[in-house]
Amino acid sequence: MNENYRLPDQDAERSRTAESRRLTFEMPEAFRHLGNGKTYFINTYGCQANVRDSETIAGMMDGMGFRQAAAAEEADVLIFNTCAVRRAAEEHVLGRIGSLRTLKKQYPDKLFVLCGCMAMEKGIAEDVAANYPQVDLLFGTHNLHQFPSLLARTMKKERVFEVDSEGSGCVVEGMPVERSRPHKAFVNIMYGCDKFCTYCIVPYTRGRQRSRRPEYILQEIRAFREAGGKEVTLLGQNVNAYGKDLGMADGFTELLRRAAETGIERIRFYSSHPRDYSETTIDAMRECPNIMPALHLPVQSGNDEILKKMNRGYTTDQFKYLYDRMKQKIPGMTFTTDLIVGFPSETDEQFDDTLKLADYCRFDSAFTFVYSPREGTPAAAMADSVPLSVKKQRLETLNDLIGFWARKNNEAAVGKVLKVLCDGPSKKNAEVLTGYSEENRLVNFKGEGIKEGDIVDVKITEARSFSLNGEAGIV
Ligand code: SAM
Ligand code: SF4
Repeated sequence: MNENYRLPDQDAERSRTAESRRLTFEMPEAFRHLGNGKTYFINTYGCQANVRDSETIAGMMDGMGFRQAAAAEEADVLIFNTCAVRRAAEEHVLGRIGSLRTLKKQYPDKLFVLCGCMAMEKGIAEDVAANYPQVDLLFGTHNLHQFPSLLARTMKKERVFEVDSEGSGCVVEGMPVERSRPHKAFVNIMYGCDKFCTYCIVPYTRGRQRSRRPEYILQEIRAFREAGGKEVTLLGQNVNAYGKDLGMADGFTELLRRAAETGIERIRFYSSHPRDYSETTIDAMRECPNIMPALHLPVQSGNDEILKKMNRGYTTDQFKYLYDRMKQKIPGMTFTTDLIVGFPSETDEQFDDTLKLADYCRFDSAFTFVYSPREGTPAAAMADSVPLSVKKQRLETLNDLIGFWARKNNEAAVGKVLKVLCDGPSKKNAEVLTGYSEENRLVNFKGEGIKEGDIVDVKITEARSFSLNGEAGIV
């Protein structure tokens, strides 16, 4: 096994001190021409945190003189930024990497890189080190700021595996970024998670919660706005807990209000945890017109016993109360959620409770998942008596219900005029423009002289399950 490879120590991770290491990134002069016109391609899996990390990797690659390749097969450096939340995503990545063996034999100078959450997972680095010789560099989520120096070593023919052994994590400011869109930005406000939901691997792969200091976040938003940016999404695994590790009592609301004061046109945030939601946040959303009336609020299950086994820290009644308060205070607000079916021991009756909750909340859409056991999490040790066929049937039933309400909610928007931030031509049909309304509804529309980044009034003419059709300029 490569001597550079070490597994993160989960106990050390848990007993980390409150004050995180804070670093500032600097690109060493010697690396600025490392790429010398060579190309790279990044395959990104998983959540927005990974999308944002890939933007950092792209910024670093550009800063080292690499160019983006048009397709994966053409790239000199092929990067896999991976997800570990469910086993299926992992198997997909291992399958793709496995299939690169022949390519590596044909073109030994091509470099293959594996990073992100999978790299942090117990056993994966060992498996890759032993069974996937085509992988030249593997690094963990805590090593992102070291990527240029790790890549420089790899380019000198060293096989490098670097997974932060203390897992202590750090907050690094000043990392470069190559945003995928000029008018929309993901802005990290915190890293890691302290919630330890029993099914979830994130606190192990991303580490304990570490908030960025507000001044850096606000600086990033201001700079983005000055460069013509329109919308920021504040990112964190549990944004409502922002600032707790900095000793802030109501850090997220304070940050939201200060972000609103920057004058940026649109603010969204992702993802929220029902347990940490405060009334002051609801007030800030109501009072600041540039905080968008759309909320992603993962509930996971509609049954109290299951929620307890998941360690979510709220009951369905508490969730409903929060939902009702929001609907009451912010009319027109839309809700999306995450739901897991087939958690260990979930009975038919308990699953019915999830359906009842989904009916009550009439979500605008939902990410729905079949529970996937993740080694090292408490739920993976729970007896799981639910057959896979039952889990799949539950998922289908739930998806039908979510689809039903999504369509109903969209139908209620027909005839209305929504403000849409244009993302440019639709990928499916270049003759149509696409974008998102303030309520985060996907709108495909026709219009003349409208470009990416414009905010336009669109009259909604037709509803589909997860999108709307409309026309701009006929208000
Ligand atoms: N931090 C976010 C939160 O709590 O809302 C979400 C993080 S996780 C990347 C996104 C979603 O994946 C979770 O909300 C959960 O529904 C789902 N998920 C996490 N672990 C899972 C597992 N072991 N099996 C199935 N779904 C899982
Ligand atoms: Fe995972 Fe729960 Fe943290 Fe979300 S809040 S990242 S589901 S542990």
